[in-house]
Amino acid sequence: MIEIKHHGATSGVTGSCHELSLKMGSDEKRARFSSDPDLDAAPEFEGPHHGILIDCGLFQGQDEGREASAADLTIDFPIDHIRALVVTHVHIDHVGRIPYLLAAGFQGPIICSEPSAVMLPEILEDALKIGFTRDRNLIERVLGLIRERVVPVPYGQWHPVFDEGECSLSVRLQRAGHILGSAYVECDARTGDVEERIVFSGDLGAPHSPLLPEPKSPERADRLVIESTYGDRDHEDRETRRDRLRVVLENALADGGTVLIPAFSIGRTQELLYEIEGIIAGASGNVKMGSDGKRGRFSSGPEFGADSEIASTSGFDWESLEIVVDSPLAANFTQIYRDLKPFWDAEAQELVRSGRHPLSFEQLTVIDSHEDHLNAVDYLAKSHRPCVVLAGSGMCAGGRVVNYLKAMLGDKRNDVLFVGYQAAGTPGHDILTFGPRGGWVELDGERFDIRARVHQVGGYSAHAGQSDLLRFVEGIPVAPKEIRIVHGDSGAKVAFKELLEARVGSRVPIPAPGV
Ligand SMILES: [Zn+2]
Repeated sequence: MIEIKHHGATSGVTGSCHELSLKMGSDEKRARFSSDPDLDAAPEFEGPHHGILIDCGLFQGQDEGREASAADLTIDFPIDHIRALVVTHVHIDHVGRIPYLLAAGFQGPIICSEPSAVMLPEILEDALKIGFTRDRNLIERVLGLIRERVVPVPYGQWHPVFDEGECSLSVRLQRAGHILGSAYVECDARTGDVEERIVFSGDLGAPHSPLLPEPKSPERADRLVIESTYGDRDHEDRETRRDRLRVVLENALADGGTVLIPAFSIGRTQELLYEIEGIIAGASGNVKMGSDGKRGRFSSGPEFGADSEIASTSGFDWESLEIVVDSPLAANFTQIYRDLKPFWDAEAQELVRSGRHPLSFEQLTVIDSHEDHLNAVDYLAKSHRPCVVLAGSGMCAGGRVVNYLKAMLGDKRNDVLFVGYQAAGTPGHDILTFGPRGGWVELDGERFDIRARVHQVGGYSAHAGQSDLLRFVEGIPVAPKEIRIVHGDSGAKVAFKELLEARVGSRVPIPAPGV
């Protein structure tokens, strides 16, 4: 019997965690022993039972500020038979519970793509510091365990997980185009004479993502487990978004203020840097290359240096623009993204070959230490030089972006630009809603009037839209007999289920957790 189960993901606290388990069940037994006169004497034969987990995440999203208690996160399902964990990508809602899985006694390897193998310990170190423990030794021990267990597997290559005679399982990772290193997982499972190809989508990206190639449909999927974050809608046009971003930035920067972009550290920040470098290059035809970004120049005031011979046609001098990434995690991941150039898409590789450095250009400054951060906030609040600051968190619910907001919201020369979804109840949502009406926002218990202008540019989601998801499914040559919809709010799931039933004709259950 080849069985799919779903642990968590809809309980509000835990993130994605799916199980694929194989056992010699009664059906296979009956078939095999149908000619065996002794079968009746041994009807309860139980064969070996082996399984894998796909992702082990911690919920993040609508309840960003909500504290999950350790008890909520403890692994509450049997894992004795789990032989490996396969990680689709390193977002916390897919990997955040790995420390709890290890604490529960999981002994197997952690299988992931080569870029994810580099990023996983980094992202978990950050998560451990924030939510797991302050004990440095314990953090080091957990990270040591994770580094030991990680097994990087190249895209497109079959990797045997177990072969126990009656039961065997191999997995293959394919590019998912969601963040660097993201993968969907193809599983070839066999129990006795029964063989099946089961595909877990993880999170799928959309076409025209900066740096990432778009996902290709699997060549076969007897059963498919797919996300449906945007199962009910498409994104704003992704092809024109760079132009829309350019126009907003040009207008925002014309009065010499700061444009603050609240952005998630992993993926979004690097995509925006890539886009901004493209805008600067397009406008000035002359992007100077930095070596690896400069750190901490704000300790003695920035050196806005670029002598600008070439101005853009709109009159805005792009070369005088300073770009600041203020987040230790984003700084770290920007460096990792640079190191992982071989995994960038063809367009980005071509830029590198032509001498461009999309993630380390001349105007980019990366801020790491808290002291430099405070200096930067202070300096930029008073300065009259145009500057773009990227800082987390993406929904303004915490992180360094909050200090910038406090210092800058009151000045109409400044602008806040949202590129991501703002969940109800977050300061980001309030700024977006009340900012344009001259309202206020509460930050750390204090009211701040919003005189800065507020903008939103769509089309930067790292998730596939409804048509992208449908294209992924319809590209499978033979329609899967079952498509399980996981990940996404219930409206999105139901809409996508109805669409798939009408268009593909598969059975489309929406499983509850633990089923
Ligand atoms: Zn994700």
